[in-house]
Amino acid sequence: SQPLSGKIALVTGGSRGIGAAIVRRLSSDGATVAFTYAASGDRAKAIVEDIDAKGGKALAINADSADPKAVQDAVEQTISAFGTIDILVNSAGILLLNPVEDFPLEDFDRMFAVNVRAVFAGTQAAARHMKAGGRIITIGSIVAERSGFPTSSVYAMTKGAVAAMTRGLARDLGPRGITVNNIQPGPTATDMNSNEASHEILKQLMALGRMGEDKEIASFAAYLASPEASFITGASLTIDGGYLA
Ligand code: NDP
Repeated sequence: SQPLSGKIALVTGGSRGIGAAIVRRLSSDGATVAFTYAASGDRAKAIVEDIDAKGGKALAINADSADPKAVQDAVEQTISAFGTIDILVNSAGILLLNPVEDFPLEDFDRMFAVNVRAVFAGTQAAARHMKAGGRIITIGSIVAERSGFPTSSVYAMTKGAVAAMTRGLARDLGPRGITVNNIQPGPTATDMNSNEASHEILKQLMALGRMGEDKEIASFAAYLASPEASFITGASLTIDGGYLA
């Protein structure tokens, strides 16, 4: 049988990129998957249709992570539709770059809201319902470990925040048998990281000499979501093709 059969998952930011690859992978591993999107309704609908056609079950929920109530409602909708929640993957994220001198404070607030506060709000709502064996996974970033380039100070802060939050949440939820982990991808080819000129620079910094693929990150998330990963918690785990090596 499949590793996640009978499990119910919610993935935030599942309409594109890494989140979409995670939705597809958890589904092909047997889970029933709800996912949120903000702007990409058509992409979300196509994913649901694709999963339906393959005999899986998926639900797309319009929920802007900038609004914590929307994220909490998405958790509740998942539970009303499917009865419970076993796996929460916080993948929704935005990248707003600017040198410190020019960085708009509205962008600080927006990035903090989507990349950090929504992770806490969703986790809080899900944790109230999760049973032993539950899994909470956040997509952080290796920028929490190494900035590498100018303009990313606030983005790096948000990813450092989720790494620290992961350790705290693991302590809160460990006694209930729920694990909490943070995946830190390196440069991965998605809409967020699609500039060909940047790819050429990044590739030279990576031991494997190439960008990551969304499905490679999804494979790691599927492992952490599975019963096999039962002794991993509070960890920030690098998957970066050797960018930090
Ligand atoms: P993309 O920009 O390709 O996709 C982002 C996804 O998040 C989309 O599905 C988008 O949905 C959703 N999203 C964005 N803002 C919101 C919001 N306010 N509410 C709900 N959903 C939202 O990004 P990636 O796939 O590259 O990134 C996924 C995660 O991985 C992010 O947390 C990112 O920081 C992290 N990451 C990415 C790396 C990379 O190199 N690509 C490296 C390290 C970490 P919609 O279009 O519907 O709004």
